Amino acid sequence: MVLPVFAPARVVRFFVFLLLLGVSARAAAPAVTEARWRALRAAAEPAALYTLLYALPKGGDLHNHLAGSNLPEWLYAFGTDPARNGGDVFYVRARFASPAAAIDPAQRFATIRRYQYEALPPADRAEFIPLGELTDAERQIWLDGLRLDQPDEGRKEFFNVIWARFIPLWRNPDVRLELLAENLKAYGAEGMRYLETQFDLNGLADNAGAPIPPEAALPRLRALLARPDVAASGVIPRFQVTVLRFAPDAESRLAEAFAWVDAHRDLWVAINLAGIEEDGFGYPLRFLEKFRELRARYPEIKLSIHAGEMDGPDHHIRDTLLLGATRIGHGVNLLKDPDTLLLLQGGQRAYVEVNLISNRLLQYTPDLAKHPFPEFLRTGVPCGLNTDDRGMWDSNLTDEYYTAVTLFNLSWAELTGLARSSLRHGFVEADTKEKLLADYETRLARFEAALAEGTPAEALAKLAAATRPVTYGYARRNWGLSFPAAP
Ligand SMILES: [Zn+2]
Repeated sequence: MVLPVFAPARVVRFFVFLLLLGVSARAAAPAVTEARWRALRAAAEPAALYTLLYALPKGGDLHNHLAGSNLPEWLYAFGTDPARNGGDVFYVRARFASPAAAIDPAQRFATIRRYQYEALPPADRAEFIPLGELTDAERQIWLDGLRLDQPDEGRKEFFNVIWARFIPLWRNPDVRLELLAENLKAYGAEGMRYLETQFDLNGLADNAGAPIPPEAALPRLRALLARPDVAASGVIPRFQVTVLRFAPDAESRLAEAFAWVDAHRDLWVAINLAGIEEDGFGYPLRFLEKFRELRARYPEIKLSIHAGEMDGPDHHIRDTLLLGATRIGHGVNLLKDPDTLLLLQGGQRAYVEVNLISNRLLQYTPDLAKHPFPEFLRTGVPCGLNTDDRGMWDSNLTDEYYTAVTLFNLSWAELTGLARSSLRHGFVEADTKEKLLADYETRLARFEAALAEGTPAEALAKLAAATRPVTYGYARRNWGLSFPAAP
């Protein structure tokens, strides 16, 4: 560029303007051009592509249920380690007096806490074994019972069975907090820096079964987040309170959620509605008056609401925008509501939190090649990739990226834009968001510089030597991908 030396003040102002815009970090062309990305992809075997996507700097996961994000192996590890579960003991219903087939599936290999076990009549107690004393075969059944690893499982197994099997573990405060820490570390390892998860301190009970009020558990949460190993994850967490939309008392829960978020705005940033939309109790417009009433009482509280996680056409996404949501969870049936699609293509009104693997395993889009995600991405609907209940899918955020890249042939600009967009649409406070975005550009520039060096094969080999991807059952079962564990 030729600098107009006769107008230095104007030049300085111009560069200050660029800096203010944040343009400077991207002023140079990215080191990875689209041609380079195509060459890298052509040279990459599946394991090399996965490694690249694992190491790729990522932004935020904005659609995440923390209770559903825990790998069954983590639940087992915390459930059997008194040092990490506050000295509790968990029991599994693994031996049956009546034929297993006659027992409610949610009760088969269900887990309870010691105080619940001790309250059982002796005949019932005989069916339970301490979690740590299951045989190898029983332990495998217990682990597999907490994930969707069979083709015939799907929605019913997910909604009616899996959650009921492990919720007593989730009511243990030590286990819940340690699982949050474990998630932050695992997400940090795959390059994520912001987790906006649906997480609260409701429903906790001590080892004697006495309820722990959320306010009493809060100092423990703050202490956990300040712990050096947790801070070292590099992931900034923010929370949403989620209300089960089909519950008869959902309106009063919503009022409690507003009060909690309003009183804890440094950590809680939004409210969500989740649960099946289609049973006649969970439809969005049920809550319109309640949201309006609560909005009149509190300064703005952001809303991210599940909508359009449905098979058929309806107006749930439009109605959810009317509730005041600026983020839509899933939006699977958006293409079936063209007026709302046109509204969202404007790019300003709402961000769609896409969850590919969830939509496949819960059979909303059994064939992911037909998922609306590329249509959102390429027609101006702001969107990004998220994990939803990854513990139950046995997966991670890299699996979502790998799915999108391989099925939809993402360009480098599309791929890296996903992370940027996720950070822009997070509900985290503005100054932290700016830092996250700047940090993303720095990390991406470093990553691109490494990827641009040498031949594509050399760059991929260098990356493979420096990266130790972690895969779970989903990547193993679907793509045959697993990597040696850290020594
Ligand atoms: Zn969800």
